[in-house]
Amino acid sequence: MAKKIVIIGGVAGGASAAARLRRLDEQAEIIMLERGEHISYANCGLPYYLGNVIADRNKLLVQTPQTMKDVFNIDVRINSEATQIFPVQKEIKAQEKSGRVYRESYDYLILSPGASPIRPPIPGIDAANVFTVRSIPDVDLLKDFIEEQQPKKAVVVGGGFIGLEIAENLHQLGLNTTIIEAADQVLAPLDYEMAVILHQHLRESGVDLVLKDGVSSFVQKNGSVTKVKLKSGREIVTDMVIMGVGVRPEVDLAKRAGLAIGERGGIMVNEQLQTSDPSIFAIGDAIEVEDLVTGNRTHIPLSGPANRQGRIVADIISGRKAVYSGAQGTAIAKVFELVAASTGANEKTLKKMGIPYEVSFIHPGAYASYYPGSTTMHIKLIFDPKNGTILGAQIIGRQGVDKRIDLLAAALRKKETVFDLQELELAYAPPFSSAKDPVNLAGYVAGNIVNGDMGVIHWHEIDLLDKKSTLIIDVRTEAEYGVGHLPGAVNIPVEKIRERLPELPKDKEIILYCRLGFKGYLAYRILVQNGFSRVRNLSGGWLTYKPVFEEKKLMVAGQVDEKTTGYEASMASALSTVEPDNEAPVNRVKIDACGLQCPGPIVQVFEMMKKLKNGDLLEVSATDPGFVSDIKSWCENTGNQLLKVEKKGDNIEALIRKGQAGKVVPGEEISQQPLPGREQNTFVVFSGDLDKAIAAFIIATGSASMGKKVTMFFTFWGLNILRQSDGVPVKKNFVERMFGWMMPRGSTKLPLSKMNIMGLGPRLIRGIMRQKNVASLEELIAQAKELNVQLVACNMTMDIMGIKKGELTDGVEIGGVATFLNAADKSGTTLFI
Ligand code: FAD
Repeated sequence: MAKKIVIIGGVAGGASAAARLRRLDEQAEIIMLERGEHISYANCGLPYYLGNVIADRNKLLVQTPQTMKDVFNIDVRINSEATQIFPVQKEIKAQEKSGRVYRESYDYLILSPGASPIRPPIPGIDAANVFTVRSIPDVDLLKDFIEEQQPKKAVVVGGGFIGLEIAENLHQLGLNTTIIEAADQVLAPLDYEMAVILHQHLRESGVDLVLKDGVSSFVQKNGSVTKVKLKSGREIVTDMVIMGVGVRPEVDLAKRAGLAIGERGGIMVNEQLQTSDPSIFAIGDAIEVEDLVTGNRTHIPLSGPANRQGRIVADIISGRKAVYSGAQGTAIAKVFELVAASTGANEKTLKKMGIPYEVSFIHPGAYASYYPGSTTMHIKLIFDPKNGTILGAQIIGRQGVDKRIDLLAAALRKKETVFDLQELELAYAPPFSSAKDPVNLAGYVAGNIVNGDMGVIHWHEIDLLDKKSTLIIDVRTEAEYGVGHLPGAVNIPVEKIRERLPELPKDKEIILYCRLGFKGYLAYRILVQNGFSRVRNLSGGWLTYKPVFEEKKLMVAGQVDEKTTGYEASMASALSTVEPDNEAPVNRVKIDACGLQCPGPIVQVFEMMKKLKNGDLLEVSATDPGFVSDIKSWCENTGNQLLKVEKKGDNIEALIRKGQAGKVVPGEEISQQPLPGREQNTFVVFSGDLDKAIAAFIIATGSASMGKKVTMFFTFWGLNILRQSDGVPVKKNFVERMFGWMMPRGSTKLPLSKMNIMGLGPRLIRGIMRQKNVASLEELIAQAKELNVQLVACNMTMDIMGIKKGELTDGVEIGGVATFLNAADKSGTTLFI
C-alpha cells in the first residue's frame, strides 16, 4: 500500500524532504502544509533583497506550489497551518486561512516548522517600527516602511550572522546604522581575537558598533520607537529597529503532542531523526542535534543541515539505511568587504567543556602574493594537542575564504588531523592559490606545534608575562618595528639573530614574534638549536596580537561612542588637521605601493623617508587595507606627520610630512628610529668620576620625581659608585683582589674627572655643595632608591672586574644587556655618562 506522508513546513527542510521522497517513491502520497503563502524560498537571500542587491523578488522563490505539483506531484497546501497532532490516531488538525478546519491522517509525519525570531520582553518592543526578518512578508513590510517613511537611522539589535547582514544592507541603502551587541564581540561562533578583526572593519565601513551593552527599553513616540535606551544609560536616536538576537525552535505543536523536548529547547530526535514517537520525524531549525566535535546536544539553525536532514529523513521513510551523524555548524557570512567563516568547535566552547585543545594562527595571502590583488586571510585552526585531530577552524579574509573553510569542514567531518591537511594536493595557479595552499600551511604550522618543533605563546598570554624574567624579541625589520610593537620588545631582525646570540640571556624566557609567525619560527629554531631552552614564538605574530591590542585601546579610551565610530571617524582620528604649507619650498615625492601587501608599503615609505629631508612631503598610494592603521602607527612612532589618509575606490592615499609640524628645520635629519614612550628614562653610567656620578643622579632623581620610571645601568668604572665603602668579606682570587684595591671603594672615594689634585678636588666640591645646600652623592643615591629608581649592575663587567654582589650597596639588581635594551627601548631619553 502506498505510504501517506504529511510534512509540516514547506521551506528548507520540508521542501527538501518532499522532493527527495518523491524521487524515491513515485507511489507515495505526499502532503506539504505551509502556514505562509510561499514555499521553498530563499530566506538566506532576504537581507540582500532588502538591500536591493537581489533586485527581483521572484528570484527568491526557488519553487512555487504549482512547480512542486507539476514536477514532483506534491500536494502543497499553502496558507494552511497544522494546529494539532494526534499521535495515537496518526492525524493532524489543519486550519486554512479561509477558516476551514480539517483533519488529515498520516503514516509518517515530518515536522520542519523552523525557528522564530526571538522578541525579548523589552519595554516598547511592540512598536510599529520594530521589525524581525524571517520570511518574505517580513521583508516586504520592512521595504515598504523604508520606502514610505524614508528613515535616516536604524538600530540593529544583535551582532549575529543575520544582524550583520541586515546592518550591511541597511547601510548600503544609506541609513545611518548602529549595531547593539550585549556580548563583547559579534558573531559568537568566532573567538574574540577573530571577531575584533570584524569590529574594526565594521567601524571603518561606517557602522556604529556598540558592544557589551544591552537594550533596556525602546522609547516610543506616537507608537513608534524614537530612541533606544541601553543598560549603560546611553541613548541612541533611531527611526527604526531590527531585532536580530537569535531564533527559538518552533516546538509548540510538538510539545502539545507530547513529543520529547531537549534541554536546548529543540525537539529531541535520534540518529534517524525520529522523535519520541517513531512515526513522527523532525528536522531543521526546530530540532536539537549532536555536536560532532563535543558530542553535546546543540541547536544549529542553518540551511545546510536542514536540507541534508530533509534528504536523510526521506531516505529513512523510503526504507533506506541512513543516519544523521551530527552537526558541526559550518557557517559563512559576508561582512562588507570581509568574509567570516567558521566550522566545528571554538576555543570558548572547548574551554568551557574542559576539552584539551591547542590553536594556531596563520595569515597567508589568498593566492600568490606576486599575483596582483592578493589579500591577507586570517586562519585559526583548533586541534587536539596530542594527535592533531582537527576540532575547529575560523577564517576571516576577502578572497578564497569559502573554499578554505569548506576544505577544513570536510577534513573535520572526516575526523582528520592537521597532518592530513599537509597531505592535501590542491589546485594551484597564481590567481587562485599558492603552491602551499593556506590549508596546507595551516597544517604545517599546527603540525610543528603538535610535533614539538615550535613552542608557542598566544596573544592573550603576552600581557601576563613576568617582564623581569622574560625578554621579548621582535624579529621583524626596523621599519615594521616602527609601525608598532609589543610593549617592551627589543628589535633584533631575524637576519641578525645569529650574530647577537651572545647578548641573549639564557636565564630568561625568550618570546619571539614577527608579523605573521614565520620569521619568529625561524628565530625559534635558531635559538633552540643554540642551547636556549626557554623560547616561545607568538602564534600568528603581530597580525594576531595587534587587532586585540587596538580594540582594547579603543575600549579603554572610551572612544567607541556615537561621535567616534564609523569610517569617517576612524579616518578623522588618523588625520592631522595641519595642511601642508604650499608656500614652503619643499620637495614632494610620490611612491606607488599599490598591490603590495603589508609590510611592503611601509618598507617603501621607510626607505624613501631615509632619502628625504625634514619638511619634505611624501605621497603614498597603497591598496593593502591595513595600510590605513599601519601608516598612522608608523608616523606616530617615528615622529613623522600624517597629513592625510583617505580611501579612493580601492586605493588608500596618504600624505606624510617628514618630521613634526612646527619643528621642521629644513635640512635637519630626524631619526627613523621609533620614538619610544616618553614616560621612561634610561642611563648608562660608565664613568666612576664623582662629578659625573652627581650629574647622573641629579638628572635621574629629577626624572623620577616627575613620575618617570628611571633605570640606571652601571657598567665598568661606574660600578664603583655602587660599591660599599666598608670592606666586605667576599671570596676573590689574587687578580680580583688587586683590581679591588686599585679601584675606588664606593661613592665616598670617587675622584673628580678634572682638578682631582690628589683627592683635594672632591673634598672641595663636597664642601661647596654642602654650603650651597646641594644634596651629596650619597644623599642623591638614597633619594634615588626611595624614588624607586632601578639600579642595575652589569653582570658581565662585574665578572671582568672581579666585583662581587656582596660588595654592592643594598637595592642594586644584577642584569645583562637585555635588561638595559629592554629599558632603553621604552625610554624617551637614554643618557650615556
Ligand atoms: P524554515 O525554512 O524556516 O521553514 C519552516 C516553515 O514552516 C516556515 O515557512 C513556517 O511558516 C512553516 N511552519 C511553521 N509552523 C507551521 C505549522 N504549524 N503549520 C504549517 N507551517 C508551519 N542559513 C544558512 O545556512 N546560511 C545563511 O546565509 C542563512 N541566512 C539566513 C538569513 C535569514 C534572514 C534567515 C531568517 C535565515 C537564514 N538562515 C541561513 C537560516 C536558514 O534559513 C534556516 O536554517 C533554514 O531555513 C531552516 O529550515 P527549516 O525547514 O527548519 O525552517
